Amino acid sequence: MIAPEENPVPDVFDYFAQVELPTPTLGDEEVRRLFREVFGVAVELEQLGSQQDQNFRVFAAGGRSGERAPLGVLKLSNPVFSEAEIEMQDEAAAVVAAHDGTLRIPRIVVGPRGPLSAWWHSSEGRIHARVIENIAGKTLTGSGYLAPAVVARMGELSARVSLALADYTHPASGRILQWNLEHATRVIETLLPTEPDAAVRAVVERAVRAALVQLDRVAAALPRQAGHFDITDDNILTPPGGRLPDAVIDFGDVCVSWRVGEIAVTVSSILHHDGADAFSALAAIRAFDVLRPLDDEEITALWPLVVLRGAVLVLSGRAQVRLDDENTYASTALDREFRILDVAASLPVEVVTAGIRRALRPGSAVGAAHRSWNSAALVELPHPRVVLDAGTESALNDEGAWRRPDTLDEAAHAELDAGAAVVALPPWRAVLTGAPARTPSAPATVPTGVTLWLAEPVALSRRDGSASISDGTLTWTSGDETVTISGLPEGPTPDGLPARRRLFVQRSATGGPIAPALVPVSQAGAWRDVCGDPAAALGLDIQTDDHTDGGGTDGILATRHRVLAEVQEHYYAAPPRIERGWREYLADVDGRVYLDMVNNVASVGHAHPHVVEAATRQLHLLNTNSRFHYRIIAEYAQRLTETLPDELDTVFFVNSGSEATDLAIRLAMASTGRRDVVAMREAYHGWTFASDAVSTSIADNPNALQTRPGWVHTVAAANSYRGEHRGADAARYAPEAVAVIDALAADGHAPAAIICETYFGNAGGVALPDGYLDQVYAAVRRHGGLAIADEVQVGFGRLGEWFWGFQQQGVVPDVVAVAKSIGAGQPVGAVITRRDIADRYRTQGYFFSSTGGSPVSAAIGLAVLDLIQQNGLQENARVVGAHLKHRLETLGERHPLIGRVHGAGLYLGVEFVRDRVTLEPATAETAAICERLLELGIIMQPTGDHQNVLKIKPPLVITRESVDYFADALDRVLSTGW
Ligand code: PMP
Repeated sequence: MIAPEENPVPDVFDYFAQVELPTPTLGDEEVRRLFREVFGVAVELEQLGSQQDQNFRVFAAGGRSGERAPLGVLKLSNPVFSEAEIEMQDEAAAVVAAHDGTLRIPRIVVGPRGPLSAWWHSSEGRIHARVIENIAGKTLTGSGYLAPAVVARMGELSARVSLALADYTHPASGRILQWNLEHATRVIETLLPTEPDAAVRAVVERAVRAALVQLDRVAAALPRQAGHFDITDDNILTPPGGRLPDAVIDFGDVCVSWRVGEIAVTVSSILHHDGADAFSALAAIRAFDVLRPLDDEEITALWPLVVLRGAVLVLSGRAQVRLDDENTYASTALDREFRILDVAASLPVEVVTAGIRRALRPGSAVGAAHRSWNSAALVELPHPRVVLDAGTESALNDEGAWRRPDTLDEAAHAELDAGAAVVALPPWRAVLTGAPARTPSAPATVPTGVTLWLAEPVALSRRDGSASISDGTLTWTSGDETVTISGLPEGPTPDGLPARRRLFVQRSATGGPIAPALVPVSQAGAWRDVCGDPAAALGLDIQTDDHTDGGGTDGILATRHRVLAEVQEHYYAAPPRIERGWREYLADVDGRVYLDMVNNVASVGHAHPHVVEAATRQLHLLNTNSRFHYRIIAEYAQRLTETLPDELDTVFFVNSGSEATDLAIRLAMASTGRRDVVAMREAYHGWTFASDAVSTSIADNPNALQTRPGWVHTVAAANSYRGEHRGADAARYAPEAVAVIDALAADGHAPAAIICETYFGNAGGVALPDGYLDQVYAAVRRHGGLAIADEVQVGFGRLGEWFWGFQQQGVVPDVVAVAKSIGAGQPVGAVITRRDIADRYRTQGYFFSSTGGSPVSAAIGLAVLDLIQQNGLQENARVVGAHLKHRLETLGERHPLIGRVHGAGLYLGVEFVRDRVTLEPATAETAAICERLLELGIIMQPTGDHQNVLKIKPPLVITRESVDYFADALDRVLSTGW
C-alpha cells in the first residue's frame, strides 16, 4: 500500500490528511447568479444527490418544464480537490470515449464563452464548477432486480473502461481517495473507532479480518493502473427503451490503484439488488474476464476486495451521515451499503473465490484431486454397502415421497433390515428428498458430507490425530485434514460409530470453513473445492460427478439441439432439466421444485397415482390398436358422451388436438358435401394440414393470414379487450360474422362449418361476447353448415363454472374437438358429434387411427375423467381460480403494466400493456417477466398474438397456497423489475 508520504504529487487530495468532507452547499440563487456571471447563461436548477460534491441538473431558463432538455449536470467540486485532479477526471473521460466507441461517455458542455468549466468565487470560497453533458437514459440506482444479462453487461462496461485506461497516466493519479481499495485497510482502521454501533463494528471487523488473510497473500503482486473505480449501478445508464446499460458517468474517483479493483467495485454494487448473491454476480466477473483476463493473483484478491469495498461503504456512509445529516443521498444509501457487506460476507471468501476460479478457469480448480483424503481411512466399514440415490429421478421420491422428511431414514432402515451393513447417501450429488417446494431461489439440495447408517457399531481405526466431541459432533484432526461426524449420542469422545443412527460425515481443511450440511447447486463445486470429499475418509469408493453448473446446461440439452428439429422448440433459452412432476410441482435434476402454472395437459396433477395405476394395469393387460374389441374403449366413450348434451352421442378417438380439429373439419365437409370453412382469426387449432389451414395466430405462424387456402374464410377475432370492437362495441362482432357467412352463402360458398374456440383461449382466456356463438352458429346452420367447438384448451372443467366452454355461451355445437387435458399428457384426443353426422363420414371410406382410443389411452382418459368428477376438480378450479383472479386484479390496481386480467376458473390471462389507452402490447416485458418468474421458481409462458399475456392454466389440483405464491411472486417482479 502507498503511504501518504510516498505520494509523488504533494498538492493533490489526501483523504487521510483531511478526513471530513463537507459537501458544498450553495443556495440555488447563488448558483444561478454565478452561472450567469461566469458562463453567460441563465439557467434553472434541479438538485441532485452526491456524497462529496454538489450536483444540479441545469436547464436553460425560460423553457417550460417537462419539454425542456437539460443543458447538463452542474458539478460543484468539493473544495478539497485540486485543479489537476479535476483536469484528470475530465481527461480520463475523454480518453475512454476516444478509445471505445461502444460506450457513451459524458463530455464537458460548451457554452457561448467556451467549455463550461471554471473556478467560482462563492460564499463558501473558491469552488470549481463544470457542466457535464447529460446522458440520456436511466441509471440502475435503487435495489431493483438486475437480470443476468444486465449483470454481465456491468462486468463488460467495467472491463472496457479498464482497457481504455490501461496506459493512461496523469501526475494527479496518485491522489489518495478513501475509495481507492489499496487504502481500504487504512480507511477502515481510521473510521472503525469512530463507529458508535458495536454490532456494526463487529460485523465489519469479522468480514475484514477474513478478507485480509487472503488478500495479503497476493497484494504485492497485483497489477496497478489508472481506473474509473466507481463503475457502479449509480454510474452507468441504460439508453431510453433499451435493456442493457451502455453509458458510464462520473469520473470523480479516477486514480491509480489495483487493476482488479475496477471489477471489485462494480460487483459490490450488484450485491444489494433484489435476489442477488455472490454467485449471481459471477456473470459480471465472467464478462470482465473475457475482455480483460484476470491473472491468478487477481482472482485470489477479487472477493476480499469486494468485502473491503463493502466495509468502506458502510463505515464511510455512516460517518458521512453523522457529519452531515442533511445529506439524504448518503442516508438513503445506508441500507444498501450494509446489504452489500452482508451479502459479500455471507459466504467464506475462499468459497466465493473457488466459485470465481471455477467460473473463469474451469478445470484448473484446486478441486477434489487436491482435497481428497490423503491418508488411511478413519474407519473400516463392513460389507455389503448400499449407496442410496435420493435424486430427482430416484424411485425413492415417487408419489410425492420427496415431500416427507422421513423418507430418507425409512429407506435407509429398510436397506439395513434387508441385510445391508452400511447405507450411505453420497456427498455432492443433488437430493430431492426433503427439498422445499416453491422457493424464490434455488434451495440448498446438495449434501456436503456422507450421510451414513450402520447396521452394527464400527470402531474408529485410527488412533492418531486429535479427537474431541461437542453437541454430538466428533471432530477429528490430523495435520491439515479434519473430519467431523455429527449425529452421535451425547457423552465422552467415542471410540467408534453407533449403529442405526443417521450420521453425517464432512471433511474440511483444518482451520478452514466447514460447509453447511446442504448447499445450493450453484455453490456446490466451490464448497467441494474448499472442503474436499469425505467419502475417502470413510474408505467409501463413491464416485460423484462434478455437475456443479446445474443440470439444465448439461450435455443432454446439446444432444436435444443436435438431434431434434430446431423448430420443435423448448421453453426457455436455458431450460431447467425437469425430470419429475407431482401435483402442481415440477422438479429439476438439481432438486429445485418449480410451481407449474402453465400446464393444462397435467390437469389432474402430475404423476397422479390413479393415472399411473390405471396405465400400468392396462399395460399389463393389453395395449393394441383400436380395431380390437375390448371393454375400456366402450366404457370411456360412454362416459365422455355423458358429460355432453344428449344429442352429442357419438365419439371418434384420435391422439391429439390437431387430429381432433382436423377430423372435425373433415366430418363437416363429408357431412355437408361442401369445401368452405369459416374460422375466427387469431386462433390456433393445430399443425396438421386442415387444422393449420384454419389457424391464423401470428404468434404460431407470422404468415398465417397471407397463406390461407381458398376454402378458409375468416371472421374477426371476437376479442372485447383489444380487438376491432372493444367494450360494449363487442356486440358488433356477431352481426359482422353473420354478414360474412351470409355473403359466402350468397356467393355460392355456403360454409361446411364454422370453427372456433368457445372461450378465446389463444388470447389468454377472453370470454366471447354474450350471444356471439348463438348468432353465429344459427347463421351457419341456416345455410346448412355445422358448428365446430374447439374445446382443446378450455373444456373439461378448467373454466370452473362450466365443464365445457360452449356452456358459457348457452349453445350446443354439432361437433366438439377435445384433447390435451383429457389424457394427463398421454396422447388422447376425441371428436364427439351427433350420430347422423358421424354416419355421413362413410362417404370417405372408414375412419381408423391406430392408437386413438387404444386400451392404455382409454384407461388413462377414464382415470382422468374419474378424478375430475370424483375429486371436485372443476369446483377447485372455480374456487381457487376466483381467488387467483381476484389477487391478480388487485395487483392491477398497483401495477400499470397489467392491462386486464382475463379468464375464468383456472384459465386466466394477465395481459401486459405499455399504455392502458393505446393497449400497446408489452411483448418484451412479458418475455422478461417469464424469465424472472422462472428464477423465482415458477413455470410461466406468454401467449396471444402479441405474446404479451401470461398464460395461466395450472393443474386443476393446485392449492390456494400455490396460487398465492404465484401472485406474490408476480407482485415482486412487477415491483422490483425484470
Ligand atoms: N386447439 C387449440 C385451441 C389448441 O390450443 C391446441 C394446442 N395448443 C390445439 C388445438 C392442437 O392440439 P395438439 O397440440 O394436441 O395437437
